Amino acid sequence: MSCAPVGATVVAPPDGLRYGRRTVAVVGGGASATAFLCALAKQVSAEPVAETPDVLVFEPAGPCGPGVAYREDTELALLNRPVPAMSVDYADRGHFRRWVGQKGLMPSRGGQDGGQFVPRAWFGRYLAEMFDRAVSDLRHLGSSVEIVRERVSDVRPAGDRVAVLTGHSAPRWVDDVVLCLGAVPPRDVYGLFGSPGYIHQPYPVRRLADDIGDGAEVLVLGSGLTAIDVALELSHKAGPPRVTLASRSGTLPDVRCDLGAGDCAPGLVDDVREELARRSSLGIADLARLLDGELSRRATTLRDALRPFLARTGGAEQLRARLREPGPAAAVQRCVVALTPWYSRLWRALDPVSGREFTRRYGRIFTSLRSPMPPANARRLLELSESGALAFRAGLAGVTGEAARFRASFREGDVRRFDVVVNATGRGIDITAARPGSLVDALGGSGVARPHPLGGLDVDPESNEVLDASGTRIPRLHVVGDLSSGVHFHTSSMEYAATQAQRVAEQVAARLHMRAGVLL
Ligand SMILES: Cc1cc2nc3c(=O)[nH]c(=O)nc-3n(C[C@H](O)[C@H](O)[C@H](O)COP(=O)(O)OP(=O)(O)OC[C@H]3O[C@@H](n4cnc5c(N)ncnc54)[C@H](O)[C@@H]3O)c2cc1C
Repeated sequence: MSCAPVGATVVAPPDGLRYGRRTVAVVGGGASATAFLCALAKQVSAEPVAETPDVLVFEPAGPCGPGVAYREDTELALLNRPVPAMSVDYADRGHFRRWVGQKGLMPSRGGQDGGQFVPRAWFGRYLAEMFDRAVSDLRHLGSSVEIVRERVSDVRPAGDRVAVLTGHSAPRWVDDVVLCLGAVPPRDVYGLFGSPGYIHQPYPVRRLADDIGDGAEVLVLGSGLTAIDVALELSHKAGPPRVTLASRSGTLPDVRCDLGAGDCAPGLVDDVREELARRSSLGIADLARLLDGELSRRATTLRDALRPFLARTGGAEQLRARLREPGPAAAVQRCVVALTPWYSRLWRALDPVSGREFTRRYGRIFTSLRSPMPPANARRLLELSESGALAFRAGLAGVTGEAARFRASFREGDVRRFDVVVNATGRGIDITAARPGSLVDALGGSGVARPHPLGGLDVDPESNEVLDASGTRIPRLHVVGDLSSGVHFHTSSMEYAATQAQRVAEQVAARLHMRAGVLL
């Protein structure tokens, strides 16, 4: 985040007393914003004495609802969580599942993986509908809702109000701001931007085939879910290219196991609850002990469950091991799912040295376990690898452009040449990578926000209100989603985004004026 000078246009709210309704600005129109608006409409309608707020939604790009992850794209890009685990409202976990059923989309149980992993674009269509429904509900409750098709360039608190600036129209003064900006766009790790044949942003992946010639040698930077989306899409192209997924670690996402119904690991949750009640600070060894306790009840150990990751087999061998013997994977995935509501507290209880060590040594493994790929994708990747159409490489050391081709070097000392490079390193939370002039950059430059040492923006863990450069809470300026990952650890999932959105909506609703004279 640079300390760029910030546009100095606004700092004082308009004169005069305000008797109008409160106004809430939602910055961003993706999944987090949709979850927030749904939660706000629910909250306001459940509270008969609350006055409804006016709402401004700022979204410069694309339709409101799907955001970046769930936009229209190939049907091969699947959700990485089963249908019942996706919802805009986690107090109603079956919400998306019912929508899928109502639309007649429910795939047959006999299909691949029991039909539980559906295209992400379906979830995007669901979100678009939920966005429209929330807007309509709020309007029926008396709110005015305006969708502003402009990018917010800065947000300036002044007194008890906040100015939202876009650089295109007059500042909008509001009472609450909810930043639903998603993650920071991917970095250009090897400085290839502008080189012919370099594709910096792979989505929508269905367009990739048009940009890549028949039989091309394609290097995909990264080996996470984005890289897998790219590999699967390209395998369907006529005259398929030969694809290499390359990264430093070579670690692929784990393969999703069938965890069945019911609580995933109630014993572990009890142990964690007791541990946190007894102690305010934990180290990595304490976490390992808690997990080992649960895994021993399931006849395995942490070492066994993490074997493919610790042995750094990566690639096809990692997939084969998981498909051959899913038991240990299922045991550890149960722990990861069961602890979802506890991540934030556990993360904040870790002493700072352990926090950094966890990120460095186990962050990648955790991401693999937290967001595993559907088994059908794992089987397809193995097929492609066995046919020679797909290769996995660890130890990527550098990529440079040379005479209409690219030269990739690997730690083992070998060099390979490629016709096309696709950046699939994904979006991140390192805000030093934020584009100069972007909102995140401006917030840091003005001191309204400060970076969290472990990524994203620093926020108050209870309210998700931004902390300024001096660590003081900025009342009514909230963050929902990826940018609060430094504080809460893992916020890049629909469940986290929706749960945070719900909490913030409760706070916004609690500040609404109460109408006098209403008897319940
Ligand atoms: C490719 C991908 C696949 C995923 N798959 C799954 C999955 O299967 N299951 C799961 O649980 N989670 C998944 N996730 C994680 C998670 O669900 C998403 O990260 C979540 O959708 C985040 O939504 P968001 O609204 O916070 O961010 P985004 O979807 O990034 O939306 C942010 C919006 O803010 C707008 N915006 C940004 N800056 C400004 C500005 N300055 N002014 C105005 N508007 C602005 C952008 O235009 C964008 O529309 C996936 C994530 C990705 C990236």
